[in-house]
Amino acid sequence: MERSNPPRVLAVAGFKKSGKTRVVEGLVRELVSRGRRVGTVKHIREEDFSIDQEGKDSWKHVKAGAKSVMVLSPNETALIEKREMGARDALRFFQGFDFVILEGFRELEGVARVVVPRNEAEIPQLVNQFTVACIGNFKCERPNFGFEDSKALADLVEKKAFPLLPELDCQHCGYNSCEEFGLAVITGLKGWAACETLQERAVLEVDGRKVPLNPFVQELVSKIVGGVTMSLKETKGKEIVLRVRRDEG
Ligand code: SF4
Repeated sequence: MERSNPPRVLAVAGFKKSGKTRVVEGLVRELVSRGRRVGTVKHIREEDFSIDQEGKDSWKHVKAGAKSVMVLSPNETALIEKREMGARDALRFFQGFDFVILEGFRELEGVARVVVPRNEAEIPQLVNQFTVACIGNFKCERPNFGFEDSKALADLVEKKAFPLLPELDCQHCGYNSCEEFGLAVITGLKGWAACETLQERAVLEVDGRKVPLNPFVQELVSKIVGGVTMSLKETKGKEIVLRVRRDEG
């Protein structure tokens, strides 16, 4: 079985009514036309926002105290969780995707970023060291693209975007930190696959949150689990998921 890589991530950052959604739409269309599986995450700042509608059955479930409500229909599945979730947690839902485009996470560092300023004065507030492009006709010290340049922008994203960095700083890639490695990918010095941790030979999740494992531990876990399950014919070439509950103390 071919192992799926973690999705590569791109943030499209800008202030309100800057045209971020237009950029995301263009990129999604272009990447999908290339056969990529694309997901998006939209960040909404308004505290009183709710996707749930008053009076609907799902709304009544929440009113009654449900913390998580799932709505299934023939064409759509919606999960409403009554809590705030960060970008890292949200990305757990995109296993098997090629790209995830995040719209609106201005504070998020460590992922490739495209900025959509409304004017030149906003550029210093939006551009960070991971910025790969600037939309609009501004002096930005990054490659400029127009709103209609989705094809060229998608070419750039295919080259520069990388999966969420593990924050392990294990230095196996030859860089002192994951952040330095990410910058090397942005500048084209390295390909993201040079980080063995991101190859995800073994994945550890504790209470649903992914815990990065260095390449040595991944190899070890993969060999131990592979060895233990070797006699089970149905595991050959398959992804194996093992759940362990540790006793307290
Ligand atoms: S090998 Fe991966 S996890 Fe280790 S420092 Fe480099 S980027 Fe980070």
